[in-house]
Parts: sequence; C-alpha cells; structure tokens
Amino acid sequence: MMHLAFLVLLCLPVCSACPLSGAAKEEDSNRDLAQQYLEKYYNLEKDVKQFRRKDGNLIVKKIQEMQKFLGLEVTGKLDTDTLEVMRKPRCGVPDVGHFSTFPSMPKWRKTYLTYRIVNYTPDLPRDAVDSAIEKALRVWEEVTPLTFSRLYEGEADIMISFAFKEHGDFYSFDGPGHSLAHAYPPGPGLYGDIHFDDDEKWTEDASGTNLFLVAAHELGHSLGLFHSANTEALMYPLYNSFTELSRFRLSQDDVNGIQSLYGPPPASTEEPLVPTKSVPSGSGTPAKCDPALSFDAISTLRGEHLFFKDRYFWRRSHWNPEAEFHLISAFWPSLPSYLDAAYEVNSRDTVFIFKGNEFWAIRGNEVQAGYPRGIHTLGFPPTIRKIDAAVSDKEKKKTYFFVEDKYWRFDENSQSMEQGFPRLIADDFPGVEPKVDAVLQAFGFFYFFSGSSQFEFDPNARMVTHILKSNSWLHC
Ligand SMILES: [Zn+2]
Ligand SMILES: [Zn+2]
Repeated sequence: MMHLAFLVLLCLPVCSACPLSGAAKEEDSNRDLAQQYLEKYYNLEKDVKQFRRKDGNLIVKKIQEMQKFLGLEVTGKLDTDTLEVMRKPRCGVPDVGHFSTFPSMPKWRKTYLTYRIVNYTPDLPRDAVDSAIEKALRVWEEVTPLTFSRLYEGEADIMISFAFKEHGDFYSFDGPGHSLAHAYPPGPGLYGDIHFDDDEKWTEDASGTNLFLVAAHELGHSLGLFHSANTEALMYPLYNSFTELSRFRLSQDDVNGIQSLYGPPPASTEEPLVPTKSVPSGSGTPAKCDPALSFDAISTLRGEHLFFKDRYFWRRSHWNPEAEFHLISAFWPSLPSYLDAAYEVNSRDTVFIFKGNEFWAIRGNEVQAGYPRGIHTLGFPPTIRKIDAAVSDKEKKKTYFFVEDKYWRFDENSQSMEQGFPRLIADDFPGVEPKVDAVLQAFGFFYFFSGSSQFEFDPNARMVTHILKSNSWLHC
C-alpha cells in the first residue's frame, strides 16, 4: 500500500532557531489543531510535538509553507486567519509540492476512460448523485480529448464511492467537516479512484457540501492534477471559494494544468460540413479581433450580450466595455459546445440554446429541468435536423428561426409555430445573405451575422442599412 507515498517527498532544511512566542496554556487546542493539520496536509513529522521542542523552526517553516500555498499573509504564526483556514472544510489530499500536476506526472495513457458509481450517499436521490458526477465529468471533458463512459459493474478506471472513517486505505475520514473527500492520481487499481466522506451532508445546492463541486475537484486529481495555489482555481485545496454554484468557474489555471497533461480537445468532428462553425483556430482558442472571426450563436441575457464561439463565449455588459471571455462549461457544465443558435425570451427570463435537434432552457446560470428537448416539439417538420440562428422580438413576442435560406416564425403568446412558414429570407430580409450564423436585435434593428460579416437590417424600411465586421461588438 504505497499509494500517495510520493506525495510526501518534500524535505525542508532546518535553519537557525526561531521559537514561537507566547506559548500560553490556552493555546494548546489551537496548537493541537495546527499540529494535526500540518501533519496531514504539509507532511509535518508525526508524533513529534514540534511546538514543545526548543527548536521550533520546522513548525514555523511549515506554517509559512501553508500560509504561502493558501494565499494567506506569511507570518509563520498561528494568527486568527491561519487558524480560521485550518478549521475550514477542504480536500483530503495534501498540499505538499508546488506543481499543478503530481510530482511524477502520472496521467492516463488513453483518452477513453470508464467510471463507476459504486455506492450512494443516503443524503441525495440516486439520480441527483448521477447527474452531479456527470456534470463534473463534463467540466474536464470540455477542455481535453478525454471521454468518459459509465460502467455498472466490474472495475472502472475511476471507481467512485462514499465511505466514512476507516475505509480500507491509509487515509481515514474524520467525521463531519474538515476533510471532505480524496482521490488518487491516474493508474491501475485504487489509482484514479474517488472517495467521498459520507459523514458530510451532501447536497445539490450550497446548503450543505455541494457534491458537483467536490466531485469536479476530485476528478481533477483522478486525471492527474495536483493542488493549485491559485485561489481562483477549482484545484485550490479549500472548498470555501466555491460555496456558491454561481461563483463556480474553471479557471485558466485549471485549464492550463489539465491541458499540460492531455492537450486541448480535438477540433469538433460533429459538424464537418459546416466549416465556418466548427473549425477552431490553430490554438483552439478563438481570438476576438481575428478579422475572420464568426460566431456560432448570439443572445442577450438579462441586459448583457453573449457571443458564443466553439467552447467559449464573450460576455458584454453595458458597464464593462471590455468583453469577458469564458468557457461555456464554466457557467453551464451540462451545456454542449459548438452551439447552433441562442435567443432570450425576456418575459420568461429564459435563454434557449440550440444544438443539433435539441434545445436547452437556461435561467441565469441554471440549466432548467426537463431539457434538452427535441426541436420538433416546437413545430418544425421532421426534415429539419438543426437550425442556424434564432432571435426573439420582445415587443412583438415573435421568435424567428433561420434554417439555410428560409425562416420560421414562432408565436410566444400562443407557444406555437405560425401558419404560412417557412418563408424565404431573401423575400422578407432583402440584402441579408442566407446561411445566417446568428441574429441579434438591438436599437430597433436586426443584426444578421454571416461569417465575418454583419448586416444591420431596419425592419421598418425593410433594408440593410450597414454592413459591419462580425466582431464590431467586441470593440475590435
Ligand atoms: Zn484536492
Ligand atoms: Zn479513501
């Protein structure tokens, strides 16, 4: 049972003495807490009461190491902030080391991985556990060439289980709080496996310990990522930074870490016949000022504008002229990438997202239950396999769907497709080139995006009033 042994290789030099001051009796419990914390997560030698030794330098070094790693002020003392962090819930994997991968850089030698949910917590319905794990897998799937498939029996690469206290490995759980879960780096047998402490109260929301967030973090370990000292990272060892789902982001640090092991995902092969929508630029990350930039889909969201491209989107708000750039999966882990269309229905505070013959409904950063649904439930004929673009006119309560050289119109009041459609785009939107990628309504105009061009269309004058570059909205 030598697993994880390589995690604890760091040896620190012992220099001149610098004993802790104020060793008052009432501080004993704090010292015991610190002793246990540093033993567990910073490889402090066990069973030696360092605080009681004349040479306290080692413990100061360890406290400094912990403070530095966790982004605290480096005082070398058990100050209030340090003690507070020591009491917070966290991952059970130690913090020793300063790399984003495990020291020997173990990784899976294949991209097709299997997982199995061995048992369930009594805290949540089974399907809630299944969906939290699936969402967590998706977070990593989106940014790597890795794919995961589920096994219901036998040995999977990643065996996921709930356990408490002593559970058959060297790392006993500690009851409620503190250590929440741990996972082993890639390899055979126990390696790659994830154990959740079932003395925690596992929840779907943030009222207890959120299973999705902890699972996403632990999966990072299963894939070969080690703890990050970047407080924004999912791989930061404390969970408190992510107590609200809405604040969850897969940081660039996490993406850099996992891609250093596996590289970026391959270019999408799902839409090989539609090159403007599916071929990412060389680096795999679209550049907003690339003159050839086109968009997959554009929508408003509560007064902001979202420009979707490949696995990413730019988010432009009125008060911030500089567009933010995010992974779609960081906001909506269960949404696909390489979208076809998106539009907002303001009266329902809902954005609808389309890909292939399915669509999703999102409210803020929550994907609504009951989705995806088939696009044919909206009234499209069976011959329609996907739509190119969509926009909803909030005054007239009509939604326009563009498919190749035609468009359909959907009545939001009656929730049905209108009679007399499809019609030709060229007849009703003269000057707009068919094969529309995305449409936006703003300032009384419709903006049609087609490749790197954008047509400003005045619906009253029924004419194109300007032709712009597609990325003009991103201040290029
Ligand atoms: Zn961890
Ligand atoms: Zn374990």
